[in-house]
Amino acid sequence: MMRQYELVDRVRKYNPNADEDLLNRAYVYAMKAHGAQKRASGDPYFTHPLEVAAILTDLKLDDATIVAAVLHDTIEDTSSTREEIDQLFGRDIGALVDGLTKLKKLDLVSKRAEQAENFRKLLLAIADDVRVLVVKLADRLHNMRTLHFVPPEKRKRIAEETLDIYAPLAGRMGMQNMRDELENLCFKTLMPEACAMIEARLADLRQKNGALIAKIEDELREALVARGIVADVKGREKAPYSVWKKMERKSIAFEQLSDIFGFRLLVSSTEDCYRCIGVIHTKWPFVPGRFKDYISTPKQNDYRSLHTTVVGPGRQRVELQVRTQEMHDIAEYGIAAHALYKDGRANDTDALSRESRAYRWLRRTIDLLSEGDSPEEFLEHTKLELFHDQVFCFSPKGRLIALPRGATPIDFAYAVHTDVGNNAVGAKINGRIAPLLSELQNGDEVEIAVAEGQVPPAAWETLVVTGKARAAIRRATRDAVRSQYAGLGRQIVTRAFERAKKTFSDEKLKGALPRLARQSIDDVLAAVGRGEMFSGDVVKAVHPDFKEERKANAGVHKANAGMRKADTGWFGLKKAASLVFKVPGAEGPPDAHAIPIRGLGGDLPVSFAPNGGAVPGDRIVGILTPGEGITIYPIQSPALMDFDDQPERWLDVRWDIDEDRRDFFPARLTVTAINEPGTLGMIATVIGDAGANIDHIAFISHSPDFRDIVLDVEVLDLAHLNAIISQLKAKPVVSKVERVNG
Ligand code: MN
Repeated sequence: MMRQYELVDRVRKYNPNADEDLLNRAYVYAMKAHGAQKRASGDPYFTHPLEVAAILTDLKLDDATIVAAVLHDTIEDTSSTREEIDQLFGRDIGALVDGLTKLKKLDLVSKRAEQAENFRKLLLAIADDVRVLVVKLADRLHNMRTLHFVPPEKRKRIAEETLDIYAPLAGRMGMQNMRDELENLCFKTLMPEACAMIEARLADLRQKNGALIAKIEDELREALVARGIVADVKGREKAPYSVWKKMERKSIAFEQLSDIFGFRLLVSSTEDCYRCIGVIHTKWPFVPGRFKDYISTPKQNDYRSLHTTVVGPGRQRVELQVRTQEMHDIAEYGIAAHALYKDGRANDTDALSRESRAYRWLRRTIDLLSEGDSPEEFLEHTKLELFHDQVFCFSPKGRLIALPRGATPIDFAYAVHTDVGNNAVGAKINGRIAPLLSELQNGDEVEIAVAEGQVPPAAWETLVVTGKARAAIRRATRDAVRSQYAGLGRQIVTRAFERAKKTFSDEKLKGALPRLARQSIDDVLAAVGRGEMFSGDVVKAVHPDFKEERKANAGVHKANAGMRKADTGWFGLKKAASLVFKVPGAEGPPDAHAIPIRGLGGDLPVSFAPNGGAVPGDRIVGILTPGEGITIYPIQSPALMDFDDQPERWLDVRWDIDEDRRDFFPARLTVTAINEPGTLGMIATVIGDAGANIDHIAFISHSPDFRDIVLDVEVLDLAHLNAIISQLKAKPVVSKVERVNG
């Protein structure tokens, strides 16, 4: 295990102003926190964060990053808390460790290859400080290096995830060395035979070409020295996984690969880079089309170099890369190296200002990460700006779902599946029950509770943020309303058939669909329920002999209507004669033909007479209003006369009141009272004490002394209403109380 002083020495080697005390405190704190914990290898757990820190010292990272690496598993795996870290090491380090804790939670989630891109975005969205990602990559590298201690099933999953997510992320961060090592470790784990084969071929080639390589190296050095250029010439071998990928991609044999060996020349200035290329091109013929100037046009990840391929000794093609030390470090270490070079003064003694510059740069680099090499990638990743407007959440099975910021569990449910959204009744976020309308955060695991046969509340439509959820909710509410109409239509049609003494079945109705010019039974029933089609027409379409009976009915009704006009009291309407009342004290026999009315919010589209209402205990008639469903009128309502010439709209209805559910029904009263202060308060008190509601009040003044007060009230039933009327009449200031029927 790395000793405390070794860690400090490693950091001081590249940063003489390192905060020794901070590093020492972190070492001791993490060692104590992890205590006796062991790794799969049997080593003390604490060796892991130390090794991660060591990897980062190779990348010459700042104190805060090194300390965060030492502490990176404390919050998740020990009793340490964010507050404690903040207190002991400052908020900056606290935030880094917290970011790493959040990322660690994601390790528990399965990440399928097709989700890899989204997952990388999630990493970027969560890690708002790029140093968190650098530590995460080092953490993953050390875990990959020690992967052979882990059980085989787990090994494969970790390697796949590394290859899908972390290796490309390292590449995008310009950390080529990190990427190569991660890829090769994955290659060894996932395809051991292929990896061994390539490694053997490489070793073979190395041996065979050894003399040739040395010869080229010598000739190069000689030619450069002759021109006064100091260059560090290094042979370079393609990594096994890169070789494999290229063989796969181009489906070519190992022998056909021309760029397995190459040379890298490090020179001291940009100018020398170009001079170097001049010397090489003079000495050997270059392969046309292979010269690339990434110095004047750097790659998106800031990679700079000159590339060329020449035909060297023995007609061997040789690839060459020419760059300065700074360009080299940036190519190898990417983001990490930028911290040292961005201001062009790697040996700045003012550590603090360098650190803050580096930090600023690192933050800015988050943007750079979103850019790829190809134009498509570039376009795709400029969209990544958007991911500050996105949240990424998981299903309990590890499915990653990207949603716009502000999204709720309802949006999540609809993103999973429309049925899940429609049937959603509750949600758990990270294992805790949460309201369906909470705002989701990055990395939340969301579980939706469903119940069959739900209809999403229409109000959700305005509360969700995704178009998919909004459209689905609109469709579901529309379907629910339609099925209400179809339900009403079915009741109306069934009763029309019964009255006509004909049998009704869906089968028979199906046969009549062409005559009714409708597509389905539901279309017909909904049309009847909406009042767009008359039940008589449906009977007639199924049984053409129905015509006469219908005329007869209309005649009876007309006669009734005439009688009614002569009669000033209760109307002896035949239609109403069959009404039943389940309300206590109501009269009349039950009638199977009548449609049961429960009140508002039931499964039928019901409303009550707009000018006066209707309450249980009233004898009632239903009028079918196109597009609105049934309107219930008390039988004494004069408004019914308006429908005398439309017998098709009259429906037999009956109250079907659930005694356990205390629903309220609308009624209107006119109270004539003395015009004096306190009258209105007295009336309101009487109604309130009776347990009724006042919905609306209007005044009509006839004289200075009296006025009429029009009250829309909500009561339980007729008895309740009559009790209120009696109590109002008992008050001295009240001269008259009348029920209004519109
Ligand atoms: Mn770790």
